[in-house]
Amino acid sequence: MKSASKLSGELRGKLIVSCQAFDHSPFRRSECMARFAQAAVQGGAAGIRANGPEDIRAIHQAVGVPIVGIWKAKQDDGEILITPSFEAAQQVVEAGADMVALDCTLRGQRSGALDRLRRIQEELGVPVLADIATVEEAVQAAQAGADAVLSTLRGYTEETRHVQVFELSFVAQLVQAVEVPVVAEGHIQTPADARAALEAGAYAVIVGTAITRPELITRAFVSALEGWRCCKESQRTFMGIDLGATNTKSGLVTSLGELLAQSVTPTPWKEGREALLKHLEQCVAACQREAQNRRLEPEAIGVATAGWVDPESGQVVYATDNLPGWTGANPAEYLRKAFGLPVAVENDANALAVAEKHFGAAQSATDFVCITLGTGVGGGCYVSGRLNRGRHFFANALGHIPVVPGGLSCTCGKSGCLEVYANAAALRRYAAPGNFTSCEEIIAAAHAGDPTAQSAVRTLAQYLAMGCASIVHLLDPELLILAGGLAQNNGLLLSALTEELAKRVTAWPQRHLRVQASALGYEAGVLGAAAVAFLAVGEGYAAKKSQSCQF
Ligand SMILES: [Zn+2]
Repeated sequence: MKSASKLSGELRGKLIVSCQAFDHSPFRRSECMARFAQAAVQGGAAGIRANGPEDIRAIHQAVGVPIVGIWKAKQDDGEILITPSFEAAQQVVEAGADMVALDCTLRGQRSGALDRLRRIQEELGVPVLADIATVEEAVQAAQAGADAVLSTLRGYTEETRHVQVFELSFVAQLVQAVEVPVVAEGHIQTPADARAALEAGAYAVIVGTAITRPELITRAFVSALEGWRCCKESQRTFMGIDLGATNTKSGLVTSLGELLAQSVTPTPWKEGREALLKHLEQCVAACQREAQNRRLEPEAIGVATAGWVDPESGQVVYATDNLPGWTGANPAEYLRKAFGLPVAVENDANALAVAEKHFGAAQSATDFVCITLGTGVGGGCYVSGRLNRGRHFFANALGHIPVVPGGLSCTCGKSGCLEVYANAAALRRYAAPGNFTSCEEIIAAAHAGDPTAQSAVRTLAQYLAMGCASIVHLLDPELLILAGGLAQNNGLLLSALTEELAKRVTAWPQRHLRVQASALGYEAGVLGAAAVAFLAVGEGYAAKKSQSCQF
């Protein structure tokens, strides 16, 4: 009998290659499938599995080995069924298939697979192979007269969806359960898998994806490399020092933005330049000790500082009286000499924008403004994907946009600046002194419904909107990020600011401006400082890597 000779002779202990392509694959042509089949036979394949009369015809003309023919057809439920009718089997055989496989899972059986199986054997005179997903289905198919059972559909039916790898034990169970040959197919990734399948008792092995789908083979390599890069990146660390007027936060940060350790020390802000430089040195030394304990070697130091900074030289071009004597200091030079590492220094508000761009809410944004609301009011912005610093590094002095002519005097020496009307002191002032002890308390009370606190937050939002309206009109950003203590847990400020902006900004609906709070929280300053250090050395690293990887 033909079936016996095909199954017991040529294919025993051999490899069958399944030559199929996705609809969107560049190989999705019968001519390409025939070439895959030729390559498979050159490599020693003893049989081919193929889908549809056109492919089978082309393959039949190209190679002389036996072909397992199937016809995948979409059913009324939208799902594919393998060889769902006698006519489909007939066309597959006429095209040159030597055997026919069909879906004999429970779903296939509901479509009459077991009756079809016998009719194909009798009327077309070819062996019929049963694609199944469970032992029960295999037993039913064998009882119905299948010439072999194939583990093809394990992992592809509702009941077996959890199985996503090759299961050697399933092959062994099938061998125990049925008398007919068991052909291992599905999720076989390596030559070792194929060999193990024979060891487990399989009669032959069918491999498809691992041989004939270059997209998936490529993807496996790509994700392995991505995994390596990701792992490497997570091991790179930087020291970030956020020198604030009140406190200095310092920490170790990976280039993926993970904060490994952080400490806070008071800034000796009154004591002048030398004391501040010494203080920075102590903060870096503490970070280094922490890094040594963790067996890490930070690559660079990033400093985010109040005041405006020339990022090229690392010099503080100008600082207000919040840090007396800081104007003219060069923390970059000082720390470089002390530690022998690359040092990058950036204005603290700019550094926050860098943190948002690399680790925060602005990763996909090209035009955004980050506004920090705390003791002072500062800002950083990206224009067309680049950090905007200005010709003399004084850009983004958002806190000093005049909002009240002849208003309250500001630390900058002028009067009526946004900072004086939108900083922490302003919020306390609006809430009436004596009612609350801290800004956190005012914000919490506002969200609990306290009318005085709510009115204070709204007043601050009104002034903030005056400043922000100018920025939005000038820059047309896609995103406004509020950071700093006043923006945390303060949904009311976000909504009140959005309402106020809608009143003040022209073409408001067309701008699609999103207003949101920073998700980086308390750590944002350290992350920003570290991101600045990462950028300073990061690009050089990337260039070096791509050169050494050309093979
Ligand atoms: Zn000012």
